[in-house]
Amino acid sequence: MDVRPFWLAGRPATGDAELTVTNSHDGRVVGVCSVPTPGQVEEAVAAAEAVRKEAAALPIHVRAEALAHVSRRLAERADEIARLIMEENGKPLFWARGEVGRAISTFRFAAEETRRLSGEALRLDTEPAATGRLAYVSRVPYGPILAITPFNFPLNLVAHKVAPAIAVGAPVIVKPAPATPISALVLGEILAETDLPAGMFSVLPVPNDRAATLVTDPRLPVVSFTGSGPVGYAIMDQVPRKHVTLELGGNAAAVVLADADLDWAASRVALFSNYQAGQSCIAVQRVIVEESVREDFLARLVPAVEALVTGDPADEKTQVGPLVSVEAAERVEQWVDEAVTAGARVLTGGTRDGATITPTVLTDVPADAKVSCEEVFGPVMIVQTVSGPDEAFAAVNASKYGLQAGVFTRSLDLAFRANRELEVGGVIIGDVPSYRADQMPYGGVKDSGVGREGIRSAIADYTYEKVMVLTGL
Ligand code: NAD
Repeated sequence: MDVRPFWLAGRPATGDAELTVTNSHDGRVVGVCSVPTPGQVEEAVAAAEAVRKEAAALPIHVRAEALAHVSRRLAERADEIARLIMEENGKPLFWARGEVGRAISTFRFAAEETRRLSGEALRLDTEPAATGRLAYVSRVPYGPILAITPFNFPLNLVAHKVAPAIAVGAPVIVKPAPATPISALVLGEILAETDLPAGMFSVLPVPNDRAATLVTDPRLPVVSFTGSGPVGYAIMDQVPRKHVTLELGGNAAAVVLADADLDWAASRVALFSNYQAGQSCIAVQRVIVEESVREDFLARLVPAVEALVTGDPADEKTQVGPLVSVEAAERVEQWVDEAVTAGARVLTGGTRDGATITPTVLTDVPADAKVSCEEVFGPVMIVQTVSGPDEAFAAVNASKYGLQAGVFTRSLDLAFRANRELEVGGVIIGDVPSYRADQMPYGGVKDSGVGREGIRSAIADYTYEKVMVLTGL
């Protein structure tokens, strides 16, 4: 099998070691990637620093055209890239195609947003002392960005860091997840076709111990991290003076209130607890249902979960594939067993075959079981019953996480109450917490992170406002 080069300052390069990527469904080797040496990591950082000023001064049309090019090329290569995502991640083709579609949009939104980066003129003569003065406010990149990404969306979460970096004119170094580096390397191929200066991007599939020097390097003032809490907070502690964005985990809740459309709620909860085998930071983990509709809701939910097609991710019909590894599935299985030993009831699922867990619904789960209070990151949901909206919203907030919550209700009044009361970064009314449009602000509160993604929000996070005051006008 050919060894894939990595991207060092815009050019393909090979290093001193290799990383083997396998498909978790059948254990097949699906790719071998070259791993940069510590010297090459240093070269990439030096190149990013060297091109910093040139990148910030790039004309808007150059940045916007580069972003539009990436969007177009992803569209042209969509089928091939979806298959690569399916192979390296184990994500069913159906969802892999969806991810490519989202990355195409992410780059297109960034191209559009770049053209709106015009700055702002601010008249200061609202006060007598500032008569004759005008301010021009613009956004300036802090400098090169270190983008550390997780395995579960190996293309679109890289896009969410690379696209706004190009938009603001900042060099970017991507450190993809070791399990899924191929999608990021293919994105590197497409970036290399653009007119961006060579040092503007690197994709370095380094092991975590070689990533430490990237995190602490003062020439990379921004660290944009998506992944698990312990790793994210350890990074933040290491570099308290850097601009760190943390997109972390959650145990997202879907609230089903008495006035909800139960057919819709059940079908959405069933699908989005299990999409990507539950390996999404906003997959439905906790279902909080009002007592008066509990039985009717469960009568719809359990058959909808059992109807999901589980199996080979390469099959177009598969909805639920394997987890990223057998070890990940064994951990989920242990958590389910632990809950059952503590008194939980299995309404469906609860079994494992290799890396695949059958979509699982649990009730009567103790509040201190891991499947209740930690992030499962597997196709497992727990159903809790509440007396009404107040108890439902309190149950959502009882989590240490706060990424997004979904509330199924047809009442505008309850929608606004949910928005006021829920301690999360996003409240999705009439749908699951798993809903995300790539142009909207996205991120969490509490242990779910710091900062926001979504093109406009990331642009704000990667830049500072600079004011120039003109005198004597
Ligand atoms: P992870 O924390 O294990 O790894 C994330 C990235 O950090 C990987 O690239 C990994 O190699 C790197 N890393 C690990 N140790 C490091 C170190 N010491 N220094 C530098 N880099 C290091 O997470 P994962 O298992 O890949 O992804 C799953 C997690 O990501 C879940 O918790 C999930 O909720 C979270 N996630 C959050 C969002 C969001 O937007 N909030 C989106 C997707 C995934």
